[in-house]
Amino acid sequence: MTDPIFGPGTLLGPEPALHIRGRRVTAAETRPVENPATGEQLAAVPEATPDDVAEALEAAAAAQRAWARTSHPRRAEVLAAVMAELDTHAEELARIVVAEQGKPITEARGEIGGARLFLDVALGNKYRDVGELVAPNTAGEQIAIREEPYGVVAAIIPWNFPAAIFARKIGPALMAGNAVVVKPSELTPLSALAMARVCQLAGVPDGLVNVVCGEGRVVGRQLVEHPLTSMVTLTGSTRAGREILAQAAGKVMAVSLELGGKAPVIIFPDADLDLAVGKAFEARFWNCGQVCTCNERTYVHASLHDEFVARFVERAKGIRIGDPAADDTQLGPKVSAAEWDKVKGLVDGAVAAGAKVVLGGDRPEGGRFTRGHWFAPTVLTGVANDMEVVQREVFGPVLPVLPFDGYDEVIDWANSTDYGLTSYVFTEDLRTAMRATDDLEFGEVYVNAVGPEQFQAFHSGWKLSGLGGDDGRHGYDRYVRRKTVYLRYGG
Ligand code: NAD
Repeated sequence: MTDPIFGPGTLLGPEPALHIRGRRVTAAETRPVENPATGEQLAAVPEATPDDVAEALEAAAAAQRAWARTSHPRRAEVLAAVMAELDTHAEELARIVVAEQGKPITEARGEIGGARLFLDVALGNKYRDVGELVAPNTAGEQIAIREEPYGVVAAIIPWNFPAAIFARKIGPALMAGNAVVVKPSELTPLSALAMARVCQLAGVPDGLVNVVCGEGRVVGRQLVEHPLTSMVTLTGSTRAGREILAQAAGKVMAVSLELGGKAPVIIFPDADLDLAVGKAFEARFWNCGQVCTCNERTYVHASLHDEFVARFVERAKGIRIGDPAADDTQLGPKVSAAEWDKVKGLVDGAVAAGAKVVLGGDRPEGGRFTRGHWFAPTVLTGVANDMEVVQREVFGPVLPVLPFDGYDEVIDWANSTDYGLTSYVFTEDLRTAMRATDDLEFGEVYVNAVGPEQFQAFHSGWKLSGLGGDDGRHGYDRYVRRKTVYLRYGG
């Protein structure tokens, strides 16, 4: 029997509450949160009112004024304290992620480790250059271009990494001197509430990190449009990104967007097939296929296609599906009924258009899978590149495999979607690897490797996959604006 996630001494307390100005705030209206493995209600989470949103933003604005006057090394100390507190509560946090999101516990532990790493990378900015000097027209003058925080950042986050993406946002935002109001996904608010409590226990000043829960188009929109918000960062779908960009246009506000993906895996004829099968497999089934960098479509040279499919299917048949809280589980459920329906619709649409289901295609068989949102590992062949299953983000454990004949054809196919986040290339030939790296219209190219991405680098999408990103030094840059100071000190 594992420890409960609610109750005395837990991060979430007796029941979930919004986190505003360091206080637990309840609301008359609540929204159910479900356990995706069973479909049962896990908790009822307060739905923030417009007053709660305004209160959170005012708390953030007040806390930010003092925070902006702290030194970078001091901010780094506070983030280091959050990392230490994360270590203390790592297992509890992982269990909260499993309970509301459904990923296997081993992956949830990895997610908490990832949250820690995001903070570590962010606090690495403690001795950064925080500005530049430009040669002035006249001696005795100084022109300094300084980095300055925006003030209050609205951080709107998705359900697929509800703890790690919280850290991915607050790390650079706080290091740069901002305060944050986080709006988690309606499906997974508990992880963010628990992470906010971790921040509080670590000594993050009250009001600097707040969490308001509720519907994106209501609470999220209020956050974006409120005059106290001066920057918004979203990780989520392209649909939400477009809506937020449009809302932000009225205020001419800075926006950073990490959106969907449709990563191709390209396996050239000279690839190491063992490596390619293993990596294509890994990158399809992380988090039940619900990662923006997942292998969403695999293009295999025609000479290797049949062998690839046979080996991939063999491995996929062996995946251990089941209780996400069990240490040996490899595949959990999809996060929600709506997500399940979307995946099933894409598979059925492909079959109606002529694709063949080589494996899966529906719920796995067995009693425990009749409740909750389980989807069997699925492999499709006979797929055409213009089918919806190849063009739209599936975000589930479904792999369409397509044979190709020539280099130009496969690069055109890979570039043919509206997304441009992650791409994968397998080849033993340096020239092919470098040519493909030149030709792929994606923000990330992995050669003979797959993610997860390393947070000191830069994870950013091209085309409909986004604008900007949070990681490394380029990510930090999104959380600052610049002030030019002209100082005359000469006679
Ligand atoms: P989503 O867009 O449905 O929701 C994301 C967040 O945006 C939620 O908190 C939601 O409430 C909020 N939201 C939605 N509409 C809004 C609006 N009009 N105004 C303000 N807020 C709004 O996405 P999701 O289903 O939670 O997450 C899955 C998506 O996230 C996938 O497309 C995935 O590829 C993407 N994702 C991208 C990255 C990346 O790094 N590029 C990482 C993880 C997930």
